[in-house]
Amino acid sequence: MNRLARLRVEDIQAWVGEVHLSDSKGQTPYYIPVLNQVNPEVFALQIHCLEGEILSWGDETVTFPLMSVIKPFLLLYLLNHLGEDAVFRRVGKQASSYPFNSLTQLQEDRGFPRNPMINSGAIALTDLLAGETPESRCENLLLWLNEMGNCQLFLDHSVLDSVHSYPNAHNQALSLELEKNGYISHRYLALETYNRICCLSGKIADLANLGKLILASSFADIVLEIMTNCGLYEASQQFALEVGFPTKSGVSGALLSIVPEQGAIACYSPLLNKQGNSILGLNLLTHISHFVK
Ligand code: GLU
Repeated sequence: MNRLARLRVEDIQAWVGEVHLSDSKGQTPYYIPVLNQVNPEVFALQIHCLEGEILSWGDETVTFPLMSVIKPFLLLYLLNHLGEDAVFRRVGKQASSYPFNSLTQLQEDRGFPRNPMINSGAIALTDLLAGETPESRCENLLLWLNEMGNCQLFLDHSVLDSVHSYPNAHNQALSLELEKNGYISHRYLALETYNRICCLSGKIADLANLGKLILASSFADIVLEIMTNCGLYEASQQFALEVGFPTKSGVSGALLSIVPEQGAIACYSPLLNKQGNSILGLNLLTHISHFVK
């Protein structure tokens, strides 16, 4: 039975109103100025059920960058184009107990990135994309996602300029370590491709459509397992126990959650907790899980 399809706007309406006011203590990423200055009150939610029902709440028109929510889609694209062996020679499948941009984790693992949901893993995977330049690599991924996922994603240049305006020492150090250990061949190409794909942007409906793309894929089991174990960084295990939906977050406040065999939940709310996950988004998923389980 698709319990997700039985969810009604009223089930979340009153709840969203309350939480917005009480949970305004989060942060936005200081190192990406346009995301740092975004209106913290903006909110969007869409639930797409596999049978076709759509539940929508909040601002359907606002666009936001996917940031790390692109990571499962980089993985999905490469699994489709190169297969499992090629992908998992470059990246592991294990959870990390360190923050998403941790150099310590990468060094402890002798330069082998632990999973594709943390920065080191995603930077390593951008090295496998076809194309000579960051522009063409990002474009290849964008075109495929828009075609396969029925989306209208675009590269938001204002966000990319903002990413470039602040030297991200963590990501630079990760790229250097990956190159030193032979897991990427060109660190500038890999890092700049990574920066660009994080700036792929869209509306809440695009994010929900992307979720359905995972569900329709023959690689769904692998991608969902990795999202469950690694999608929320250090908070993944706890969330998996409490809520159980495979989920991926991004520092923009984007959050994509999959309810296997039922549908996708896309949420956007910019205020983040210490681990870099949307506070309202996680609370909302916990709330929804009570209806769906
Ligand atoms: N581009 C961001 C970074 O590398 C993405 C991180 C995230 O969304 O979690 O810091």
